[in-house]
Amino acid sequence: MSKIAILTSGGDAPGLNACIRSLVRTAIFHGIKTIGIHRGYDGMIEGDFFEMDAGTVSNIIQKGGTILKSSRSERFKTPEGRETAFQQLKKAGIEAVLVIGGDGSLAGAKYFAATYPIPWIGIPKTIDNDISGTDYAIGFDTATNTAMQAIDNIRDTAESHNRIYFVEVMGRNSGSIAYKTGISVGAEAIYIPETNTDLEHLFDVFERGWSRKKSSLIVVVAEGDEAGGAFAISKKVKEKFPQFDMAVCILGHVQRGGSPTCNDRVLATKLGVAAIDALLSGQKNIMVGEVKGEILYTPLENVVKRHLEITPAMTELIDILSI
Ligand code: ADP
Repeated sequence: MSKIAILTSGGDAPGLNACIRSLVRTAIFHGIKTIGIHRGYDGMIEGDFFEMDAGTVSNIIQKGGTILKSSRSERFKTPEGRETAFQQLKKAGIEAVLVIGGDGSLAGAKYFAATYPIPWIGIPKTIDNDISGTDYAIGFDTATNTAMQAIDNIRDTAESHNRIYFVEVMGRNSGSIAYKTGISVGAEAIYIPETNTDLEHLFDVFERGWSRKKSSLIVVVAEGDEAGGAFAISKKVKEKFPQFDMAVCILGHVQRGGSPTCNDRVLATKLGVAAIDALLSGQKNIMVGEVKGEILYTPLENVVKRHLEITPAMTELIDILSI
């Protein structure tokens, strides 16, 4: 193995740069030349390649975003697009590809690898933490910490004004950010796509809170909650309690950016080293993950979207702590 390519693909997440740095430095350590691919699969199709050295990744471990840029590529979803990508890789003498991506990017890698002889290694990143084969994907820890800090700030203003806040966090199909963040900010209620939003229960929580003179209430809602998100839920609550002062805050893309947490930097670094190790030991078409502190290799064909499982104990935890 003398020449590899690396890219970031799909929605960005904090920690991508830490992983890029780890891949490049580990490759150089083993005498492997690293080619960076700009703009995900679109850049692969267009041959937007450049050589990386140890200096290319200096001083990026703490930075959000991705120095390689990212994209969503419709062309890579087609056999013609993947054929062009293969020709570009072949022309550049690439012997293996390492992609840092979510379940979509890893599916793309799987389809490519099924047709062409170049080995692939995937590294999981997603702020929703919804990829099987790893306890945590790169970006989730930072996204939850960013949301937690923002909601702590909202709690201050909610307290000052005796106000109810409905805070919407990211998660179109996943309540992972909402659940973890909601626990960490002491939310009075948490609504996520994985559970049925019971407004009668929410009304009870509000009445109980107000009767014991709570001066603020925070409801954390995942954007994909089946009740329609924070605005829809707040509207229904306003109809029931018109006398209450209420506000909605949509946190949005702040959760994708920012300096990665210590956990994300360390995870990204470990997965980068493990990815190069896997390649050197002859593994191919796998994703590297970390489960219970140990590196785990999962064939790309077995990597699936993981759904957050809400146990009765998790629901009870929220109820007990919101009294
Ligand atoms: P993420 O990797 O963050 O889940 P996406 O789902 O948008 O993000 O996927 C990123 C890119 O991966 C897509 O734009 C596309 O180029 C590629 N991809 C996703 N799904 C497939 C698929 N089924 N077949 C081929 N390529 C895919």
